[in-house]
Amino acid sequence: MKTVLITGANRGIGLEFVKQYLQEGARVLATCRDPQKAKALTALKEMGDLQVAALDVTQPEQVDAAAERWRDQKIDLLLNNAGVYGPRNSFGANDIEADMAAWETVFRVNTMAPLRVALAFQNQVAAAKGTMAFITSKMGSIADNTSGGSIIYRTSKSALNMTVKSLSIDLAPRGISCVLFHPGWVLTDMGGPNALIDVTTSVGGMRAKIDQLTTKDRGKYFNYDGREIPW
Ligand code: NDP
Repeated sequence: MKTVLITGANRGIGLEFVKQYLQEGARVLATCRDPQKAKALTALKEMGDLQVAALDVTQPEQVDAAAERWRDQKIDLLLNNAGVYGPRNSFGANDIEADMAAWETVFRVNTMAPLRVALAFQNQVAAAKGTMAFITSKMGSIADNTSGGSIIYRTSKSALNMTVKSLSIDLAPRGISCVLFHPGWVLTDMGGPNALIDVTTSVGGMRAKIDQLTTKDRGKYFNYDGREIPW
């Protein structure tokens, strides 16, 4: 049985990953900040083998506790999905000190936490010769940036991209494949009401690509439909 661990699993893209992997018959280890409040997530226990644990990805002791809880569990796929956008109108006429503080917060969630989670669970993923998929954004692509703005979110994802590129090389000797995915512009709380695709399409596309990955794909940056994205 395939085992999948997902962060930020209580809503949006993370919740849809839980649904689709349960439908596929996988064991799902779902994490979220507050399982007591995650009604939509815990309701999915009826669908199959779902275990839920509390995990604020920025809290080292919670990351270590989750890794300890599932110490003996081989993990085929670790999905680093949890993320935040931060302030929408930063570095304009607003309070620069507040924006600087928000920048640090967004970096902790989007850039530093995925690395911490990856390192904490590397033994379990290595045991399965598994994959670590990191949900980034096309907004982190320097080549794609023709509209400017969004410095906080963009830089947090650009830095995640570089982090995962290095990690893909560092963890390859352990048999671990690290890849990056842009999920598309998706109808979630973060994506907003004007987004172009629904979670079913986004997650379905990423799952299809994940199933086809080979060792040649290590360190690559994919769109949800499987096409590569320029850095
Ligand atoms: P949502 O805002 O709908 O969900 C974000 C999830 O991340 C929630 O489960 C949230 O938990 C969780 N999260 C935030 N901070 C933390 C934390 N410190 N610890 C644990 N969990 C946390 O966003 P999406 O589902 O749309 O986004 C998922 C990923 O996709 C993100 O990485 C995002 O950057 C990326 N993405 C999304 C796009 C889109 O169009 N939607 C486009 C490109 C990338 P809580 O409920 O507790 O806040």
